[in-house]
Amino acid sequence: MGGPAYHDRDGLIWVDGHLLPWRDARLHMLTHALHYASSVFEGERAYEGNIFKLTEHTQRLHYSASQMGFDIPWSVAQIDTACEEILVANQITDGYVRPIAWRGSEMMGVSAQENTIHLGIAAWPWPSYFSAEARNFGIKLKTSLWRRPSPDTAPVHAKAAGLYMICTLSKHKAESEGYDDALMLDYRGRIAEATGANIFMLIDGKLHTPIPDCFLDGITRRTVIELAQAKGIDVVERIIMPEDLSTAQEVFLTGTAAEVTPVGKIDEYEFEVGEVTRLMMENYESLVRM
Ligand code: PMP
Repeated sequence: MGGPAYHDRDGLIWVDGHLLPWRDARLHMLTHALHYASSVFEGERAYEGNIFKLTEHTQRLHYSASQMGFDIPWSVAQIDTACEEILVANQITDGYVRPIAWRGSEMMGVSAQENTIHLGIAAWPWPSYFSAEARNFGIKLKTSLWRRPSPDTAPVHAKAAGLYMICTLSKHKAESEGYDDALMLDYRGRIAEATGANIFMLIDGKLHTPIPDCFLDGITRRTVIELAQAKGIDVVERIIMPEDLSTAQEVFLTGTAAEVTPVGKIDEYEFEVGEVTRLMMENYESLVRM
């Protein structure tokens, strides 16, 4: 990672409509969001000054908040403008944008009916989620013992902070065993996704990807499906079991941070960084810079 800690940087952060000096964007420890995970966020990438699919991200932020039972007191258009403003204010053309909405500190306890909803937006340069070597040779994934919960257990389609608890646990375990990330199965034992990205596999000329019925239907996932179809590659959304990995020739992840990242290994299965993965990496790279 490197670089100064995230609380100790130069620049400006947008908080509740104001541009604050970076180090002043602080919270009180008795903030509901910190204790009860009542926050939702987005991860966006700017390329040459343009945030890719900005409005889709902002709409998802609003949707995530509604799934958590609150309304963000800023419209989609206002948030879009604020995201663009924070990039300019920090003179970032290529970087990552993180809007986050959370419940404040008026009430402490499980109930949060009276809490004010806050919105903050930060941006920073963030070249690549995985290392260049990992991107060239493919990252290594280890299947996690933690599973994506069922839709009647949690608001699984929200990009909500609480859902990342199992992701951090899974990723730490994978990293401590020498892997780059974890592959997560869902509550039924089907392949779901990685800890912050969706998964695709090439099987006999077609791209296969799990049905996003209990995890995020990523904006990058949907973009890559369109790119593949435009190239005449069939995309099959279906139930994929761990043993189906034995039939895959190529595997890659998709996500705003991860972009299109090849996977070289999952547990005992190995894959080549092949033609279709490279084509999707290149096509995605040119699309985001259009
Ligand atoms: N799944 C999870 C758990 C994620 O955190 C992300 C990143 N937001 C994705 C999938 C991919 O979503 P997107 O392509 O919209 O970034």
